Amino acid sequence: MHKIPYGRQHITQEDIQAVTRTLQSDWLTQGPMVEAFEKEFAKYTGAQFAVAVSNGTAALHLAALSLGLKPGQKVITTPITFAASANCVHYCGAETVFTDIDPDTALLDIEKVRTLIEQHPKGTFAGIIPVDFAGYPVNMEAFRELADEHGLWLIEDACHAPGGAFTDSNNIKQNCGNGAYADLAIFSFHPVKHIACGEGGMITTNDPDLYEKLILLRTHGITKNPDLLLEKHGDWYYEMQTLGYNYRLPDLNCALGLSQLKRADAGIARRIEIAKVYDEVFRFSSLKTLAPLEATDHAYHLYIIKTKHRKALYQHLKSVGIYTQVHYIPVHTMPYYQNLGWRKGMFPEAEAYYEQCLSLPMYPSLTHAEQNFIIEQIKSFFYATSSNYSRTRWEQKNTPKEYTGIYG
Ligand SMILES: *Cc1c(COP(=O)(O)O)cnc(C)c1O
Repeated sequence: MHKIPYGRQHITQEDIQAVTRTLQSDWLTQGPMVEAFEKEFAKYTGAQFAVAVSNGTAALHLAALSLGLKPGQKVITTPITFAASANCVHYCGAETVFTDIDPDTALLDIEKVRTLIEQHPKGTFAGIIPVDFAGYPVNMEAFRELADEHGLWLIEDACHAPGGAFTDSNNIKQNCGNGAYADLAIFSFHPVKHIACGEGGMITTNDPDLYEKLILLRTHGITKNPDLLLEKHGDWYYEMQTLGYNYRLPDLNCALGLSQLKRADAGIARRIEIAKVYDEVFRFSSLKTLAPLEATDHAYHLYIIKTKHRKALYQHLKSVGIYTQVHYIPVHTMPYYQNLGWRKGMFPEAEAYYEQCLSLPMYPSLTHAEQNFIIEQIKSFFYATSSNYSRTRWEQKNTPKEYTGIYG
């Protein structure tokens, strides 16, 4: 059976050639591709600096460390995200505090964040990690205002949103991760994300001091930079000035990332096309979708529907080779976080969202025929299983004219 995943990488002949060239070069790691990828990625987001690291989780860890996160401090994030957004806080010995989502967008609800901060003594929280969930860009300007009122830092988890943008109050488009409002933004280049490196991550910022710290932390806290050395012994001399890690991203991965980055805009365009087709079909059903396209420059990492019949629909689609996914099981309900005192029932919006959400296949190389098959399978599931979904409702309202793009 032909399998259709919810997301997958797209590797071209050009990508293969780029990696092959690097394999044949003098460098497997820490050669010219690292800086080239960083420069191009900074340009793509509009940030001044970009630091390539081994994955998105390492990016989060270093971001939190560079901001000086310490044991005893608290950081606010959303329960509807990949666990890494919350875990990075605990890597630093600090504590994650979850708040609920806005049910319309599934993004961290800024009003709930404000209430949480105001209910605690000044200095309780060190920072906030909003997530551009599913590719829907967070209004970072609003979060910056709130953060500034309380002296907090901001890390934008933009793993889902390279190429996304929101429009700020001056009517200026602000790319996700451009550093205009957040102190740092982080990205992942895992194969299900927009740009695939195998494994890979990036941190972007406009702050030169944070940039210097990140460079140091990425490679054991070691520097050979003559401007930074405390002593000078000879050309061999280096200093380990702080406790860092090996979070470097090899040249091989950067060569792939750089090659993929050239197609990033085309990838977004195709994702939007796919989303529009789904939107058109589901508009006439009682299936709810998350965050319509008009709202913002959505990067469409995921296309999410909400249905009471989620489990049965998931099983039906799986039985015909369509592998949908659930994003996400609320992080606060994970056993690790329950052991820290978090409980089911604490975030009703996040938990209600989780009961119904399903991510449909969404990636640039999804074919028209595959998308038609997915839509047909969803329709036939609802015709068969629910009296609420009468065939006539969908069929009557969708005149052949409106459907020409879908049933070619
Ligand atoms: C993928 C992802 C991460 C982690 O990235 P890795 O490269 O897998 O470590 C963090 N946050 C979000 C929202 C993600 O989707």
